Amino acid sequence: MTTHTTKMLILGSGPAGLSAAIYGARAGMAPIVVQGIQPGGQLTTTTDVENYPGFRDVIQGPWLMEEMQAQAEHVGTRLMWDTIVEVDLTSRPFRLIGDGGDVYEGDTLVIATGAQAKWLGLDSEDALKGKGVSACATCDGFFYRGKKVAVIGGGNTAVEEALYLTNHSPDVVLIHRRDSFRAEKILQERLFAHKGVTVLWNKEVAEFLDGGGTTGLVGLDLRDTVTGEMSRIDVEGGFVAIGHHPATELFRGHVALDDDHYIAVEPGSTRTSVPGVFACGDVMDKVYRQAVTAAGTGCMAALDAERFLAAAEFDHLAVAAE
Ligand code: NDP
Repeated sequence: MTTHTTKMLILGSGPAGLSAAIYGARAGMAPIVVQGIQPGGQLTTTTDVENYPGFRDVIQGPWLMEEMQAQAEHVGTRLMWDTIVEVDLTSRPFRLIGDGGDVYEGDTLVIATGAQAKWLGLDSEDALKGKGVSACATCDGFFYRGKKVAVIGGGNTAVEEALYLTNHSPDVVLIHRRDSFRAEKILQERLFAHKGVTVLWNKEVAEFLDGGGTTGLVGLDLRDTVTGEMSRIDVEGGFVAIGHHPATELFRGHVALDDDHYIAVEPGSTRTSVPGVFACGDVMDKVYRQAVTAAGTGCMAALDAERFLAAAEFDHLAVAAE
């Protein structure tokens, strides 16, 4: 068992955590990043990335994360392979314990543990991920331009994704298991006014249909949730938009969460309910959820942490001088 100490402890190694690390290292805080169970985060399970600024050609998600990791290490970040199982945020330095018993102490803590998209759980869905099935229209919608696509869900995300896809697709079908949406009224009004979207009420996906070979998704088998009747539609893109799970289980009872279990932050900052603890990326953002916005809030977290330490140091000196 070893104790690792740092001015800036970062949990999570997606674009948010690594951007916080790059800024934190360059500010002299010698950060430690504990990578967690999915080093590199959600982008490591993505293939083509076309919307991260700075690359004129399509790049691969795992490659982008390797580059970010190398950049973070290059400027002085220590990356640790560990999974935190226990946190104590009652006093500083904050104390976190890894599953092998190692202790991590940070004068500040940046939570960048991300979120996972919820899936329907069908084998055919799993088999066609990246081959027509996606959980992010903003990321992948462009690849289906000119094609008929479907969105599954009835919340804000589903309605926003359906509207977003009308930019690329002439024919968007929104499939919902009930006969009313839970999305905000204004979004619903926008959706109903849009001629490019057809809503199929009371339908659930029974199967994602594989065209075989390299074709990918070709359609959906749907079950009517009221009558049980089966039907089939042809689509080349299927976007599952039934919500996300923010990875906040570890922090329940330690840091304030919002009603959807995301870490609550002061508007316009990354400050959480615990002074010295900051949150960035998808673990605190349920609206934008992009690699570039995660990186942006990661930068904010490092700046907030640096300012926090500078203020704490100033208070300490002031008390010592009294
Ligand atoms: P929500 O939990 O709000 O909605 C999930 C939707 O998926 C529901 O309509 C639900 O159906 C449906 N669903 C869930 N599980 C299944 C399943 N197994 N099969 C079929 N359908 C299913 O998730 P969102 O991602 O839409 O939103 C999460 C939070 O983020 C909300 O608070 C939302 O307001 C917020 N948000 C805000 C945005 C903004 O401000 N612009 C943008 C996006 C999200 P049912 O209705 O029947 O339960």
